[in-house]
Amino acid sequence: MVDAVVVGAGPNGLAAAVTLARAGLSVEVVERNDTIGGGARTAELTLPGFHHDVCSAVHPMALQSEFFRLFQMERRIELRLPEVQYGHPLDNGRAGIAYQDLERTAAQLGADGAAFRNLMGPLAASADQVADFATDALLHVPRHPLTVLRFGLRALEQGSSAWNARFRQDVAPAMVSGVAAHSIQHMPSLSTAAAALSLGSYAHARGWPVPIGGSQAIVDALAADLLAHGGTIETGREVRSLGDLTPAKAVLFDTSVPGMLRIAGSQIPIPRRGALRRFRFGNAAAKVDFALSDAVPWTNADLRRAGTVHIGGTRQEIAAAEEAVARGQHAEQPYVLGAEPTVMDPSRAPAGKHVFWAYAHVPAGSTIDPTEAVTRQIERFAPGFRDTVLASSARTAVQMGEYNPNYVGGDIAAGAASFWQLVKRPVLSSDPWRMGGGMYLSSQSAAPGPGVHGMAGWHAARSALRHTFGLSEDVDLSPED
Ligand SMILES: Cc1cc2nc3c(=O)[nH]c(=O)nc-3n(C[C@H](O)[C@H](O)[C@H](O)COP(=O)(O)OP(=O)(O)OC[C@H]3O[C@@H](n4cnc5c(N)ncnc54)[C@H](O)[C@@H]3O)c2cc1C
Repeated sequence: MVDAVVVGAGPNGLAAAVTLARAGLSVEVVERNDTIGGGARTAELTLPGFHHDVCSAVHPMALQSEFFRLFQMERRIELRLPEVQYGHPLDNGRAGIAYQDLERTAAQLGADGAAFRNLMGPLAASADQVADFATDALLHVPRHPLTVLRFGLRALEQGSSAWNARFRQDVAPAMVSGVAAHSIQHMPSLSTAAAALSLGSYAHARGWPVPIGGSQAIVDALAADLLAHGGTIETGREVRSLGDLTPAKAVLFDTSVPGMLRIAGSQIPIPRRGALRRFRFGNAAAKVDFALSDAVPWTNADLRRAGTVHIGGTRQEIAAAEEAVARGQHAEQPYVLGAEPTVMDPSRAPAGKHVFWAYAHVPAGSTIDPTEAVTRQIERFAPGFRDTVLASSARTAVQMGEYNPNYVGGDIAAGAASFWQLVKRPVLSSDPWRMGGGMYLSSQSAAPGPGVHGMAGWHAARSALRHTFGLSEDVDLSPED
């Protein structure tokens, strides 16, 4: 018998396990893959010496989330910021350039500089409070009501037909939409606006870093802390039923909702089970990793200093591409999220060479190889890119789901990130992680949703500590040096 078992060693599963182990409990983690990390693994996907992030690549939340602030991730691994947090190419060599310094960003936005500053400034100035609100269950009394009010008013504007009212030109709204599109939803909508405002404000606060060595460094730091506090991790074992697990007082699932129901549905009270069956998946991502002989030859030279690049053109073009995907179609010119980690971390590739990470939004269940569509979109803003490609490796949406069963149909958020499903994720409750019967959902399928923030795991573990173990004291997560 152990105190707790965690099914799945993704960032949330490991955050849950660390929290429980640090509370003095015995904890076992069981992972189906041969390596730990879930959506934060790094591997040689193309050629020897080229280290690619298999899923997540850029990590604003590793600095910004309350869990990682308490865990002090930046003291455990090196998180390096690019000079340009994100860039947004437009035709004719123009681009939106987001510096950590909001004033510098606004200064190059001409007539829209003040409007962009007014949109992001008050949120960036209280970005930790924005993160606290955005990474909790939405059904709770907010700790920082003024920040929530500022956020809510801006979300109503950027999530509605009023979204263009403050802008006169095309660069600033394209930048906002490039960030909004992270949530793979039609736009404007409240959920895309929430992504734009939260992630957008973090760019001007703690920034959008990459870990030296790759995303794997984040989960390796979590695993090291877990092992140092007596926890164990077993890899290469898929859990199919509760009978596969060491008997435990609490079981935490870093799985999808259906994944949890298959394993433990009979233990979860019937009304909650019914609500869980109404959980919906969203559209998908199809990924391509490139090994490059040279840096991406962006026409706009400022983009060559960017960690992240949002590729899709104007606000109207991005909205049209996302609308096509929402209707179940492949966009002619899909929205592509790109990152070039070697700009900050040359150790990811042999000397002078680069890796480029990209995914396109596609309909759920897509079996189309995204390599050509992604290459064409990059070529549009970086002619000659094709000639720098030494090798590439692609995963269709369906293959994303085979790689990680949480990504049903290729939905990398493990559940549609629509506004209502962010409010009730996976159920409408101020404690949406607690399933009953000693079962807890600790994955991104629970609030607050996608991202490498550890918050779903931390919330689920704290709920388990309170309800299963009767422990209500805060757990110290700080490094012990
Ligand atoms: C292509 C892609 C790009 C992304 N980019 C970013 C980014 O740049 N920045 C960012 O912050 N986020 C990004 N994300 C999102 C981020 O990776 C996820 O939100 C995050 O990994 C979710 O963590 P998790 O622990 O909830 O689940 P996961 O990371 O999915 O981990 C779940 C783990 O549970 C295991 N598992 C599942 N079922 C079982 C079972 N039955 N038995 C045993 N083990 C099981 C899985 O193998 C997996 O290891 C990206 C995701 C993808 C796919």
